[in-house]
Amino acid sequence: MKIVVQKFGGTSVSTDENRKQVIEKVRNAIKEGYNPVVVVSAMGRKGEPYATDTLLSLIDDKFKNTNKLAQDLLMCCGETISSVVMSSDLYRAGIDTMPLNGGQAGIITDNNFTDAACIEVKPKKILELVSQGRVPVITGFQGISESGYLTTLGRGGSDTTASILGVALKASSIEIYTDVDGIMTADPRIVENANLIDVISYNEVFQLADKGATVIHPKAVEIAMEGNIPILIKNTMSNSKGTLINNFGDKDKERIMTGITSQKNRIQVSVKASENEGNIKYRNVLDLVAANKISLDLINIFPSEQIFTINQKDKDVLVKILNNAKLKYNLIEDCSKVAVIGSKMKGIPGVMAKIIKALSDNCIEVLQTADSHMTIWCLVHAKNEKDAINVLHKTFKL
Ligand code: ADP
Ligand code: MG
Repeated sequence: MKIVVQKFGGTSVSTDENRKQVIEKVRNAIKEGYNPVVVVSAMGRKGEPYATDTLLSLIDDKFKNTNKLAQDLLMCCGETISSVVMSSDLYRAGIDTMPLNGGQAGIITDNNFTDAACIEVKPKKILELVSQGRVPVITGFQGISESGYLTTLGRGGSDTTASILGVALKASSIEIYTDVDGIMTADPRIVENANLIDVISYNEVFQLADKGATVIHPKAVEIAMEGNIPILIKNTMSNSKGTLINNFGDKDKERIMTGITSQKNRIQVSVKASENEGNIKYRNVLDLVAANKISLDLINIFPSEQIFTINQKDKDVLVKILNNAKLKYNLIEDCSKVAVIGSKMKGIPGVMAKIIKALSDNCIEVLQTADSHMTIWCLVHAKNEKDAINVLHKTFKL
């Protein structure tokens, strides 16, 4: 059995016309001697009738937040509709199919509703169907808890389903079909002349995905990497060869930088020693924030001040705890964190200097920076985000 997992995103399954292209991709896989296992997302994007956000808008916010089990039951509907509709289209095209939800496909999760983790896969049903020459069409993004409740795997979780199944079924590859030609050097919605990356390593793509590129979910990359199953990102609407993700990346290319991405809705918080003299809580600011489950990054500690960033959604809680501790602080809201990623930048001198120069030459204020072996971050005002990405894209000739 030569299994290929083919995952189709929301736009790919949203219209009759697009689903015709999906049928072609499934048919081609069969022609090439593969047994396709299809995974689908909910149809369409925010605002469209069966998209997950639309379904969520049908219920009371407070009910939703206090009844995660109910929220999951509702969120499973989008993919359920999609898997049955896609199966029906494939059936009409003469391909023998069977829609399955996450539980029926054997994806067993913990009961951390809305962000459940897969704890076991029982692929018996899928393998049975495949051995009968049928194409299972599986709902992405969902599983079942050991006690029988429907669960979801976190937003973007259909990619995760594809990787979970790819590994469990020892697939030849996991194909992620979407609305762009593959992984580009930057989001093509932000950089018009972004280029397609032919081959990229799991590690680099994980960094890109984890730091903002929505084209694939970071958890999906991690799972495929652990199982050593190659991922291909392709365009449902074209025959572009796409991007191959594997362990090695592109050994032949001498590029220092691979891609640029960004995250919006960051707030920079600074707490100065001079403004908090005599307040013993000053030394434990980070502890205080972390104890309230606020996640921090870009943390810089100096003798004179402590600086970090948080997500906009955590602002109210942060303000409350700092005020309760009688700490004085300063916030810069509406920031974006731009990340430049490249596995070969390690040890190359002058990369940070080049970034700072390029941004300041273009009158873009850099509020903070940080770096790790593969990534350099710059915090900028959100109004400069698009310019900053375009300037850096040009500077590094991506
Ligand atoms: P799907 O519904 O198919 O999962 P997504 O919206 O989740 O689609 O992901 C595809 C989108 O990711 C593209 O439309 C593109 O705008 C965006 N994107 C962000 N960064 C990148 C990148 N580096 N390369 C390609 N696409 C990117
Ligand atoms: Mg997606």
